[in-house]
Amino acid sequence: MSIKKIVTIGESILRQRANEIDLDEIRTDVFRCLVENMIETMRAAQGVGLAAPQIGINQRVFVAETSAGPIALINPKFTKMSKKTTPYEEGCLSIPGKYGLVRRATEVDIEALTLEDKKITFTAKGFFARVMQHEMDHLDGILFVDRIEEQNRT
Ligand code: ZN
Repeated sequence: MSIKKIVTIGESILRQRANEIDLDEIRTDVFRCLVENMIETMRAAQGVGLAAPQIGINQRVFVAETSAGPIALINPKFTKMSKKTTPYEEGCLSIPGKYGLVRRATEVDIEALTLEDKKITFTAKGFFARVMQHEMDHLDGILFVDRIEEQNRT
């Protein structure tokens, strides 16, 4: 495992839509190593989530911390998002020193593949739902600063 350099705002990879991962690729050592490196990099940077584009990899996978340990979500999708939203201050490992209020759905249903190539679905609520939305945005080339409410923009 190794800690990777985190790409920061201004680099074009953060603005691209990441590619779906081929199913045959998920079980490879290369892919497993990518996920391990992402977890190690997230932890070293004291982040709660990290998406592959943030270490320069244009693939649809992100990792996040949960109370039960780190998870890796591959080709994730939201199958439902609550209409109810709430604002909360966010930051990003790729935008050091910048924070701002972002309005996000309070609850989301997610479908994704795991490293074991199993399909999982779950509901994320509150702060965890926010992390899921922030990381999913990275896979679509969107950064939290794009979503800062106008009146709170500095
Ligand atoms: Zn981020």
